[in-house]
Amino acid sequence: MKVVQRFGPGHRILVTGGAGFVPSHVVDVLIGRGCTVVAVDNFVTGSKENVAHLADTPTFTLVEADISEGLPTHHPAFAERFDAILHMASPASPTDFEKLPVEILRVGSVATLHLLERAVADGARFLMASTSEAYGDPKEHPQRETYWGNVNPIGVRSVYDESKRFSEAATMAYHRSRGLDVAIVRIFNTYGPRMRPDDGRAIPTFISQALRGEPITVHGTGNQTRSICYVDDLVRGILLLLDSTETGPINCGTEHEMSMRQLAETIVSLCGSSSEVTYITRAADDPEMRRPDLTLARELLGYEPRVTPEEGLRRTIAYFRERLG
Ligand code: NAD
Ligand code: UDP
Repeated sequence: MKVVQRFGPGHRILVTGGAGFVPSHVVDVLIGRGCTVVAVDNFVTGSKENVAHLADTPTFTLVEADISEGLPTHHPAFAERFDAILHMASPASPTDFEKLPVEILRVGSVATLHLLERAVADGARFLMASTSEAYGDPKEHPQRETYWGNVNPIGVRSVYDESKRFSEAATMAYHRSRGLDVAIVRIFNTYGPRMRPDDGRAIPTFISQALRGEPITVHGTGNQTRSICYVDDLVRGILLLLDSTETGPINCGTEHEMSMRQLAETIVSLCGSSSEVTYITRAADDPEMRRPDLTLARELLGYEPRVTPEEGLRRTIAYFRERLG
């Protein structure tokens, strides 16, 4: 299936969380296409630095606001209609699930509803950045979009899992009842430049530890698996979905499944580090395995990941090396 570019010059796009890791890369591609982009962010986990290179770009506006408190409609950038709204704002690291539980619940519920209302008013396409966490600790492997998941509704991860599941439900409700043009992408573990060294997720943590010569903190036995995706591949998938007329949900990521032990050893070796791999307590409800079934992404969007873990990790290590000095 060949997807034809739908959004380009003359189109106004709102990206929530636009100063975050993944969303800032999405912003770059949209700006590169000639779109006018408004990024809204409260910098809870993102950073102005991620979009600093766009400061003098006339087609880019960064608005500081907490979208859980309502959309900043007083800002002139919100006076004109948007052609597309990408809801990508949310803390996403498991370490934030305990630090920012209510903030996560609100941005994945109240804020989603505000944005859906705005999308209806504007006649915009609405893209929801959902997650593989919607599958919880999956009993089906690899995970297909038809799988309903295995989520502990009151566990520590539930603030994230359930708010994303609520966002998916809300997105589909607006699609069915208001005829809103929507798309849901279920994003699997993505990494790359612009992640924070202290973000808490495995890849930035392991790289920072390896570069500093500190022990690598693998949780549990390290036999749990993830399938890691370099950010450029994910962003291409998100743009293909945005341009398409598909509703989804559609998985996006790679099939490069590896154990956390393998990941730690690979990172130590690619960093040329002497760090020791150590094993510490594992968090509750941590999913045992995760790998997307990418059939839908391939068939409906023509999506194909291109970057190998070695290449993607090399590029990410180079970024961290520069940042950490
Ligand atoms: P990130 O933390 O770098 O980006 C999220 C951005 O949202 C940050 O800039 C943050 O400041 C902003 N934000 C959070 N709450 C906000 C609020 N109330 N108002 C305004 N801005 C707010 O994380 P990321 O990894 O780039 O994730 C981006 C999106 O992709 C998230 O929605 C996340 O759930 C989703 N996702 C990411 C992954 C991944 O592996 N990176 C996997 C699954 C889903
Ligand atoms: N993990 C780890 N050490 C760390 C951070 C994470 O072993 O310092 C493990 C974590 O327990 C999980 C996997 O790595 O099994 C992926 O965690 P991450 O936070 O990157 O993403 P998740 O897929 O859990 O959202």
